[in-house]
Amino acid sequence: MQPNELVSLLKKHNLKNTKVRREILAVFSHAERPIDAIYLTENIKVNKSSIYRELKVLLDKGIILEIEFGDGKKRYEFSSLKHHHHLICTNCKSVEDVTLNQDLWLEEKSIEEKTSFKIERHNLEFFGLCANCK
Ligand SMILES: [Zn+2]
Ligand SMILES: [Zn+2]
Repeated sequence: MQPNELVSLLKKHNLKNTKVRREILAVFSHAERPIDAIYLTENIKVNKSSIYRELKVLLDKGIILEIEFGDGKKRYEFSSLKHHHHLICTNCKSVEDVTLNQDLWLEEKSIEEKTSFKIERHNLEFFGLCANCK
């Protein structure tokens, strides 16, 4: 995302255009994987509590999504990314994005018909060994 796109993203969500917000969004737009708060503190010179506060704002506005891989860490990525899933290496903890040839929309439809539950989204992560670790 270009700097002017980050600014218009903030504008679109009625968020004040602050330096720390622009920096956080810039880190997200360059990240090829979901990132955690620690990664942000390593890449932006601002205190931890500001990072957590800003993540909450971005989550509330739906700009980012929170993902958990069961290791107790919360990771985040842009919600506007094309729908995808993750491959998580249980050895080196690397994370790769992956898309399914056929995603789960048909499954969702049939679940909704069976249960009358209204599905808004799903999370599906795959755990195993990456090419380097297997
Ligand atoms: Zn690995
Ligand atoms: Zn899916």
